[in-house]
This record gives sequence, C-alpha cells and structure tokens, in this order.
Amino acid sequence: MAKKRSPRPKLNPEAIAALDRLYEQLPKAQCIGACWDSCGPIEMTPLEHWRIKAAGFDIPNANAARDGLSVCPALTLLHQCAVYESRPLICRLWGVMETMPCNYGCQLDGPPLTDRQAHEFIAQVHDIAGEHAEAEMIRRPWLLNPGRAEEVAANYHQALRDEDLREQVRLKKLIESGQTVFYVRGRGHISSTPPPSGANS
Ligand code: SF4
Ligand code: SF4
Repeated sequence: MAKKRSPRPKLNPEAIAALDRLYEQLPKAQCIGACWDSCGPIEMTPLEHWRIKAAGFDIPNANAARDGLSVCPALTLLHQCAVYESRPLICRLWGVMETMPCNYGCQLDGPPLTDRQAHEFIAQVHDIAGEHAEAEMIRRPWLLNPGRAEEVAANYHQALRDEDLREQVRLKKLIESGQTVFYVRGRGHISSTPPPSGANS
C-alpha cells in the first residue's frame, strides 16, 4: 500500500509566492524535453503536493511505483507536464544536480547544484510550509557529518541510475533513520519530464 501523505499545509498566497521565488533560484537547463518516460510517482513536500492537488492532480508518492503505478497522473498524452508551472522541486532538480545530470546533454546556465545545495533547497521548501522540524532534519546530517551525508546521497543517486530498487530501499531506510534525507523518484530513472515548452528542470 502507498504510504499516506502528510497533513495538508496552509496553501496561502505568501507560501506559494515564496515557493516560486525559491524555484527561480535553481539553475536553468536548455531542455529538449526528452525524458517524459521518467515521470512516475514521486516524493515531494506536503506543500508542493497539496498545491498540485488543488490544481486537480493527486500525485502519489514513490511507494505507488512498487504497487504497480508507473506514470505520473500529471503527464499528458502528449508527454507534457500538466502542472508545469507548479511542478515540485524534485522534478526541477533532475538535470541540474551534479549527481543527477541530464541524460540527454541539456546544458545549464550555470554550475550544477551539489547534493548539499539541493538538500538546502528541499529544507527551504519545508521552512516555507512552516515545517521547521523537517527542515532541520534535512540539514542536520550535512552539518553533523557532511562526508557521510554526501556518500549516502551519491550512493542513492547511483542506485537510481542503475534502477537498483533493492539498494534504493536499503538507502531509503538509512535515510529515514535520520542519517541523511533525500527524495525517492518513483521509477528510478535518471531524468524527468518534457515540459510544454522548455525545461522540466
Ligand atoms: S514533471 Fe513529470 S513527474 Fe513531475 S509533476 Fe510533471 S508530469 Fe509529474
Ligand atoms: S527535463 Fe531536465 S533531465 Fe529532462 S531532458 Fe530536460 S533538462 Fe534533461
């Protein structure tokens, strides 16, 4: 069974505007929109989930992939993202991180994010939602033992690239035990969706 999502955070206009300002700070890719087949169930923060749900799409978390669901409900028949403007951070990170580069050679307008920088973005999304304990949990491993956090994150991304579900599950347990935190991408592919025009990331 898919794990239940967290309770609904307040979807106030200030939080949504802050979310969009945060997304604006990410590197931009000259995306060729080639990776739509990676759009499966995804982990995201509750604020992002409820924002997209309010737009009519209830995207399940990654456990749904193990339950047999393989396509993100926001992916259209034309292989575009129906919630492109409000797509979650994880969909924007694929292709713009050192450890999750674009499989299709899409170029960035600046240096890729390190794992630590990407985690800080995730923590800030939680802060925007008022989920400061979650934000602290994400930052903690990088403050206490950055080498270990980096190692686990890098191994996790390798498991994603290898589509090694068993290793993903093992590392996810490690992650959930508080040693480090990272998202799970539903079908374990390296990249994300083709947007209506331009980059997913
Ligand atoms: S980018 Fe893909 S995975 Fe992300 S919300 Fe859009 S369709 Fe779903
Ligand atoms: S969405 Fe990102 S990963 Fe996918 S083709 Fe575009 S730049 Fe590459």
